Amino acid sequence: MIDRELIRLFREMGRDLFVSGLTTSHGGNMSVRAGDRIVITRRGSMLGRLTSDDLVETEMAPCDRDERCSREIVVHRAIYAATDASAIVHAHPPHTVARSFGHETIAPADSEGLYVLGEVPVVSASSTIASAEAGAVLAAALKSAPVAVLSTHGPFAKGATLEEAFMHVSVLEASATILDLLGL
Ligand SMILES: [Zn+2]
Repeated sequence: MIDRELIRLFREMGRDLFVSGLTTSHGGNMSVRAGDRIVITRRGSMLGRLTSDDLVETEMAPCDRDERCSREIVVHRAIYAATDASAIVHAHPPHTVARSFGHETIAPADSEGLYVLGEVPVVSASSTIASAEAGAVLAAALKSAPVAVLSTHGPFAKGATLEEAFMHVSVLEASATILDLLGL
């Protein structure tokens, strides 16, 4: 049973991610963890239009509910296993994704980005969607960073709450946009 307050948080953060242009119509995913329990968005769900049917309750170990979970459940589990994350937000913000091509880090020039994020790692995997390899490199990077970017794909951010993880994605996209505006 997923409580109403958690459903409300997923709906609000998902709506804000979509309307602020941080992800595509059906792209991105979000989860929260409490102990062995994970609640994650459904495979193929629209983050801007989430309903209670779009949230799936699963566990840290693979199980028979995985087919309904976001394909990125493997990455979410790897991050939860390796870090202090209680929530994860993944999205496809264009400036962040563009900057992940050919860069090993994204170093914000603006004050908020520097203060909130510092230098953001960009990691690579031979398979960039729902792969154990991507999970391993992202989990390693997120041990010491609030957000890391999977090259050509997008950021995975951790937080104590969905709101904090969302903030990390939002600040990173603003920093990547500012770097573009500055021609850096
Ligand atoms: Zn994605």
